[in-house]
Amino acid sequence: MLKIAIFPNKCIACGICEALYPQYFDYSDMGIVRLAQTDDLEIIIPDVHFIKAIQAKCPTQAIKISRYTSQE
Ligand code: SF4
Repeated sequence: MLKIAIFPNKCIACGICEALYPQYFDYSDMGIVRLAQTDDLEIIIPDVHFIKAIQAKCPTQAIKISRYTSQE
Protein backbone atom coordinates (compact mmCIF):
# COMPACT_ATOMS: atom_id res chain seq x y z
CA MET A 1 0.00 0.00 0.00
CA LEU A 2 1.02 3.60 -0.53
CA LYS A 3 0.20 6.76 1.35
CA ILE A 4 -0.35 9.95 -0.61
CA ALA A 5 0.04 13.03 1.56
CA ILE A 6 -0.58 16.55 0.29
CA PHE A 7 0.61 19.85 1.74
CA PRO A 8 -1.70 22.53 0.32
CA ASN A 9 0.28 25.31 2.01
CA LYS A 10 3.19 24.48 -0.33
CA CYS A 11 1.09 24.20 -3.50
CA ILE A 12 1.49 26.89 -6.18
CA ALA A 13 -1.50 25.70 -8.24
CA CYS A 14 0.60 24.67 -11.24
CA GLY A 15 -1.87 21.96 -12.24
CA ILE A 16 0.58 19.15 -12.97
CA CYS A 17 -0.77 16.63 -10.48
CA GLU A 18 -4.40 16.88 -11.56
CA ALA A 19 -3.44 16.89 -15.25
CA LEU A 20 -1.44 13.67 -14.86
CA TYR A 21 -3.47 11.83 -12.21
CA PRO A 22 -7.01 13.19 -12.01
CA GLN A 23 -8.14 10.01 -10.31
CA TYR A 24 -6.11 11.07 -7.23
CA PHE A 25 -5.75 14.86 -7.37
CA ASP A 26 -8.22 17.71 -7.67
CA TYR A 27 -8.29 21.44 -6.94
CA SER A 28 -9.97 23.75 -4.50
CA ASP A 29 -11.75 26.82 -5.85
CA MET A 30 -8.40 28.62 -5.51
CA GLY A 31 -6.63 26.06 -7.68
CA ILE A 32 -4.82 24.55 -4.71
CA VAL A 33 -4.34 20.82 -4.56
CA ARG A 34 -6.81 18.59 -2.77
CA LEU A 35 -7.34 14.87 -2.94
CA ALA A 36 -9.98 13.74 -5.41
CA GLN A 37 -11.68 11.18 -3.21
CA THR A 38 -11.57 12.76 0.24
CA ASP A 39 -11.28 16.06 2.08
CA ASP A 40 -8.47 14.53 4.15
CA LEU A 41 -4.84 15.41 3.47
CA GLU A 42 -3.80 11.78 3.25
CA ILE A 43 -5.14 8.72 1.50
CA ILE A 44 -4.03 5.09 1.43
CA ILE A 45 -4.11 3.46 -1.98
CA PRO A 46 -2.97 0.18 -3.53
CA ASP A 47 0.67 0.17 -4.62
CA VAL A 48 0.45 1.56 -8.14
CA HIS A 49 4.04 2.29 -9.11
CA PHE A 50 3.28 5.04 -11.61
CA ILE A 51 1.90 7.39 -8.96
CA LYS A 52 5.32 7.65 -7.30
CA ALA A 53 6.54 9.87 -10.15
CA ILE A 54 4.29 12.74 -9.10
CA GLN A 55 6.37 13.39 -6.00
CA ALA A 56 9.32 14.43 -8.18
CA LYS A 57 7.15 16.28 -10.70
CA CYS A 58 5.57 18.56 -8.10
CA PRO A 59 7.77 21.68 -8.16
CA THR A 60 7.25 22.56 -4.49
CA GLN A 61 7.30 19.19 -2.67
CA ALA A 62 3.61 19.59 -1.91
CA ILE A 63 3.05 15.87 -2.46
CA LYS A 64 4.69 13.03 -0.58
CA ILE A 65 4.31 9.38 -1.56
CA SER A 66 5.45 6.80 0.96
CA ARG A 67 5.04 3.12 1.60
CA TYR A 68 2.24 2.36 4.06
CA THR A 69 1.91 -0.60 6.35
CA SER A 70 -1.04 -1.29 8.62
CA GLN A 71 1.24 -0.90 11.70
CA GLU A 72 1.38 2.88 11.09
S1 SF4 B 1 1.97 19.50 -8.75
FE1 SF4 B 1 2.37 20.35 -6.70
S2 SF4 B 1 2.36 22.58 -6.93
FE2 SF4 B 1 1.40 21.69 -8.76
S3 SF4 B 1 -0.83 21.70 -8.33
FE3 SF4 B 1 0.00 19.70 -7.72
S4 SF4 B 1 0.52 19.91 -5.52
FE4 SF4 B 1 0.27 21.97 -6.37
